[in-house]
Amino acid sequence: MNIKGTTKLLGIIGDPIEHSKSPLMQNAAIAALNLDYVYVPFEVKKEDLQTVFKGFQAINLRGFNVTIPHKENVIPLLTNITECANKIGAVNTVWLTDEGWHGTNTDIDGFIAPLKKLNKNWSKIVPLIIGAGGASRAVIVGCEQLGCKEIRVIGRNLEKLEVFKNSFAKSNLNCQISIYSWDKLTNLIPDSELIVNTTPLGMYPNIDNSPLTKEQNDLIKKDTITYDLIYTPRPTLFLQQALKREAIIIDGSEMLIQQGAMAFEIWTGKKPPVDVMRQALLG
Ligand code: NAP
Repeated sequence: MNIKGTTKLLGIIGDPIEHSKSPLMQNAAIAALNLDYVYVPFEVKKEDLQTVFKGFQAINLRGFNVTIPHKENVIPLLTNITECANKIGAVNTVWLTDEGWHGTNTDIDGFIAPLKKLNKNWSKIVPLIIGAGGASRAVIVGCEQLGCKEIRVIGRNLEKLEVFKNSFAKSNLNCQISIYSWDKLTNLIPDSELIVNTTPLGMYPNIDNSPLTKEQNDLIKKDTITYDLIYTPRPTLFLQQALKREAIIIDGSEMLIQQGAMAFEIWTGKKPPVDVMRQALLG
């Protein structure tokens, strides 16, 4: 890395932040294009967000990613957010302009990037989304952007699911969201051509966990698209079992790479070296 007097700063804020793979991926892309930038992780507490924004502006930091737990908290500090970020109420990419800080959410496009390659008639597909947390919001808007007309969301707490569904009321989504309690999972699986795990079930170190039991897994039909947002391990138990059912499997690594690639392009204006970023992340 060649840091000079002219080097421009990029970064990521979160708490905790040490687990983040974004610095590895972004700095590899910067090096590959020989750009005069450096991408740095910053651990930021919620109560310090406003001070951090002022500090970043003062030192002319050009842009940054936002990760857990700040994706919603940063919105009041931004001058402008894109329509997609507004729809899900979360921002993961911020950049500085003459008018101030702008924000968007590249998780949505990151999520749909591997699905677009499958060439499906999405208006006929009713996705089953397992879990209703932060990432699930990007998945829902992603499915709407693909053209799905109905989206089923299943979770372990029906009251939380109601709140989750109602939170999209002002988003003007062009699709219907149906919510289901966890005991309906077995019945929903055979009808689902796209099943997305947005829970942390199966994530390292709990790699023997899965959102589906063995019996539920046996209900997955051939060619069902099974998508796990988890990227460690690759594949998760959920995807390993789905593969035995001859399903199409997609893990969370491509979403991570693509959301990062889109952020890189926003900040630098350069076409991202996606293969380099993939290599940095996956080795
Ligand atoms: P989150 O906001 O905490 O949401 C997690 C969701 O999973 C909640 O709905 C939660 O239900 C549910 N859940 C948690 N444990 C459960 C269990 N034992 N049984 C049933 N449901 C359970 O987390 P998030 O930010 O959405 O992240 C979720 C996952 O997506 C993580 O594994 C994360 O690494 C991954 N992710 C990947 C990418 C990528 O780029 N590939 C991006 C973002 C996130 P309750 O609400 O009832 O607690």
